Amino acid sequence: MAVAFLGLGAIGTPMAAHLARRGPLVVWNRTSARAMEFASAHGVRAAGTPREAAADADVVVTCLPTSREVEELLDGPGGLLEGLRSGALFLDCTSGDPATSRRIAAGLARRGVAFADAPVSGGVNGAVAGTLTVMVGAEPDTFRRALPVLQSFGKRIEHVGPVGAGHAVKAVNNALLAVNLLAVGQGLAALVKAGVPARTAVDVFNASSGRSFVTEVLVPERVLSGAWPRTFRLALLDKDVGIARGFAREAGVDASVLDLAGTLLSSARAALGEDADHVEVIRLIEQEAGVEIRG
Ligand code: NDP
Repeated sequence: MAVAFLGLGAIGTPMAAHLARRGPLVVWNRTSARAMEFASAHGVRAAGTPREAAADADVVVTCLPTSREVEELLDGPGGLLEGLRSGALFLDCTSGDPATSRRIAAGLARRGVAFADAPVSGGVNGAVAGTLTVMVGAEPDTFRRALPVLQSFGKRIEHVGPVGAGHAVKAVNNALLAVNLLAVGQGLAALVKAGVPARTAVDVFNASSGRSFVTEVLVPERVLSGAWPRTFRLALLDKDVGIARGFAREAGVDASVLDLAGTLLSSARAALGEDADHVEVIRLIEQEAGVEIRG
């Protein structure tokens, strides 16, 4: 089964590396130097255009910032639509938005191409280890066809509903991450300012009901250590919260907590810039509070 992978970003690159070990692979990236470098490191082919990447592929996988870039890649000159063959399978691993994916799926279906939204969770480390969680929105048959490809980089692969459902679950998951980051950052800043050692507070949370991925992993590895690695951009988390807010609104559900988290994240993004990591929102909380959360 020939696979094409488009979008060699922070998480796309390790995902594509697993696919390179699995079988025939062609890669494409907007900055072509990255695709060339990947191709020579992994012994695969780099395509000059999305159309060329899709031309011989049974399965096309995209991992781009938002659904907007996915649509642009499909429609533009030399785009995927010009190359995709009838009978091919399109897997979008972007954390995209449900409505755009339903529109893309309908357009592809008219050309005989099946679509699944298959966003991932687990971060760059999970992608390198091949242990990502993949949440899939697709028809049951499409899900079955997608499974062998998704298993190359995923450990837990859940069929969560029809097209768009994968993106909806991913957006809500990341909205929960955002709410947690903000709440943990503010809570810790207050405790440190009051004289509680940050490490002690985090140890207590992790033995109590306030624990989360943020307190168990992100804060110890990145904040207490002062390491602040850049693996997942704050701009992308801000985008995810926006998708979750829109989704909740469409469903007629009060999303006031997510609305507030979105407002805070958007202003953090404006202050820290497009390249800042999502955990750096805590850095901003530190600056505003005049403390450092280390230990
Ligand atoms: P990055 O910002 O690291 O990479 C983005 C990729 O998209 C790059 O390959 C970039 O190309 C390409 N790109 C950007 N704009 C365009 C465009 N207009 N046309 C074509 N290609 C474009 O993002 P990530 O890899 O971190 O994230 C990708 C997706 O995965 C996002 O939806 C994100 O929310 C999601 N995700 C990320 C996780 C993480 O830990 N990083 C975890 C889980 C999900 P170029 O090299 O030219 O810039």
